[in-house]
Amino acid sequence: MRLYRKLPLRLVSQTLTSTPSRLYHLTTPLLSSSDPQPNPQKHSFQAETRQLLDIVARSLYSEREVFLRELVSNAADALEKLRYTQLKGEEIDDPSATLHVEFLSESLNSLTIEDNGIGMTKEELIANLGTIARSGSKEFVKTAGADGGDTSNIIGQFGVGFYSAFMVGSHVTVLTRSAKPGSVGYVWNSNGEDGYDIQEAAGLPRGTRIVIQLKEDALEFVKKDRVREVLRKHSNFVGYPIYLDGVQVNTIEPLWTRKSSDIPDQEHAELYQSLSGRKDNPMYTMQFAVETPVSIKCVLYVPQFMPQLDIANLKNFGISLYCKKVMVQAQTPKLLPEWLMFLHGVVDSEDIPLNLSRELLQESVVITKIKSVITGKMISYLNRQAKRDPGKYEEFYKEFGRFLRIGIVTTESQTEKEDLAKLLRFESSKEEKGTIISLDQYIERAPEGQKQVYYLSAPSRDMAMESPYFETLQQNDLEVLFTYNKEDDVVLFKLENYKDRKLCTAEAANVKPVDKPEEPGHEKLEKQEGNRLATWFRDALGRENVKEVKMSDRQHSQPAVVTVENLTTLRRYLEMAPPDQKEASYKYLLHNSVVLELNPTHPIIKQLAPLRESNPEVAGLVASQLFDNALMNADLVHDPRRMVGRINKILQAVTESEVPTDADVKE
Ligand code: ADP
Ligand code: MG
Repeated sequence: MRLYRKLPLRLVSQTLTSTPSRLYHLTTPLLSSSDPQPNPQKHSFQAETRQLLDIVARSLYSEREVFLRELVSNAADALEKLRYTQLKGEEIDDPSATLHVEFLSESLNSLTIEDNGIGMTKEELIANLGTIARSGSKEFVKTAGADGGDTSNIIGQFGVGFYSAFMVGSHVTVLTRSAKPGSVGYVWNSNGEDGYDIQEAAGLPRGTRIVIQLKEDALEFVKKDRVREVLRKHSNFVGYPIYLDGVQVNTIEPLWTRKSSDIPDQEHAELYQSLSGRKDNPMYTMQFAVETPVSIKCVLYVPQFMPQLDIANLKNFGISLYCKKVMVQAQTPKLLPEWLMFLHGVVDSEDIPLNLSRELLQESVVITKIKSVITGKMISYLNRQAKRDPGKYEEFYKEFGRFLRIGIVTTESQTEKEDLAKLLRFESSKEEKGTIISLDQYIERAPEGQKQVYYLSAPSRDMAMESPYFETLQQNDLEVLFTYNKEDDVVLFKLENYKDRKLCTAEAANVKPVDKPEEPGHEKLEKQEGNRLATWFRDALGRENVKEVKMSDRQHSQPAVVTVENLTTLRRYLEMAPPDQKEASYKYLLHNSVVLELNPTHPIIKQLAPLRESNPEVAGLVASQLFDNALMNADLVHDPRRMVGRINKILQAVTESEVPTDADVKE
């Protein structure tokens, strides 16, 4: 009586009323020596089963609670097999019974799960439960598949799940009767160590009931709330209703297995909210299924906005991994690249090995394949959305653009970088303030033969427009993208190329000057004179302080500009240098990368030629200041305070020469 006394078993009570004498028999511990006949038949487990059992019970699964998932999956399989058999028109026992899985909990120390599925014959019991790694379900799929049947909903395939019951149970009893008409029922009993015994049992309904005598440390599973929680977590979308003491616990038919056109937004919103714990509706919903290189059904949600990340909501992000509607792992690591961490969703793949531990699962090639499929699909999805509704995409870009940038910077693959770069947007010199365009738009309207995409980074649009570097490009009627944050600079620098065009900073642009007739008063400094001035200039700055000084070809209104290859790297390098090495790094970079170009048409430069003869001291000060001004335009000034002394000296010289002296007044 010990085993079932406290159970509110509807089925047991039915059996009780129909066959009272048998029930006594059934509810007696089945290994008891006082058992009425027929005597139980003792069986040993098949070769190595004991050791394997140990492995399953101790180390195959990282969480004990998954034994429920395994037993529910088996019950669902049994129901699916019954349905299939019925569909094929084969005769079965009790065809009118509704198909369901039932849990009977809240007993003293045992847990019961039953289904009215296909059940097992004695031979099947021995074959399926007596041999580890033998899956009756896999066999079934093979045979039925050969008949051309659809067995895609059958979950089992490894033949080890059942034994997970011994993770929590000291003793497991299986009562089962096959659906084959006229079948006899059997009771299978085992403590998971010394083999099992089987005996005939009359009065059993069709299907299988499993009673687990819980170990002392697993008594949490007699609690209804705990069982409900685990069922909801892992088995919420199993294709048959699961009742816990008569109340259905699984509610939703998983929408990722349905046709996307059939699914109302409301249902998506519900799933999104249940996955994310948020109250808003998703901004984007993407649903897809693919067969290669891995078979997945998938639904992904982009939230309306990115919340402030903290430990509490971080755990809600990510993707739950399912295998045939059974949850394998929530928030599965490594399933998404870092830059897609803002997604919520579900991936269901029949290629997932259900029995792998979390650690092994993460290393699985299937995970890598899924990740690359999701990444590719997400990029093309976002591209489509950008075309379909640019306004909405701009909203997305404002909120999540920085993740795209992270993606470009972190991926190693140039193809993926360029795919992601399609999604980038920038302000442009040929658009109004606030209008953003893509690299593709830039390329489409660039004149034929233009092999560069020019960009200029500046703190604001106004400052970009005033930049001498922009001036040169603008004179050539070249479009320039503006970047207002360092992230964008780094992204474009890392990207390097896009569709065979070189991404080129305005500072490094080597643009031929437009041939314009010399305006009166803007005559160039004579060439030789210019070269002499440049040499003098470099000496005045100190040879170690600049890589080169030369007369510029380009036309701009500034007296001097600096040009630098890899300006972005240079700026980053300076920022990152430790404080005690900043000065040294700065000097090093000036010496190795900075070229100063002097404008031979600019009055200051032209006057500098005679000034260096007549007043070398002031000319030297002016040269240094011109250099600093040019560095300032390139956002490369190290310590502007140091200029103040020099500027004051220049001002002094200017005022002294401009203010009339006594002698002037007398004349
Ligand atoms: P798998 O589910 O991967 O096949 P299991 O160890 O979970 O492996 O189960 C072994 C086999 O036992 C199943 O393939 C199935 O044939 C049989 N079995 C287990 N549970 C049931 C059940 N509730 N009803 C009918 N057959 C079952
Ligand atoms: Mg199984």
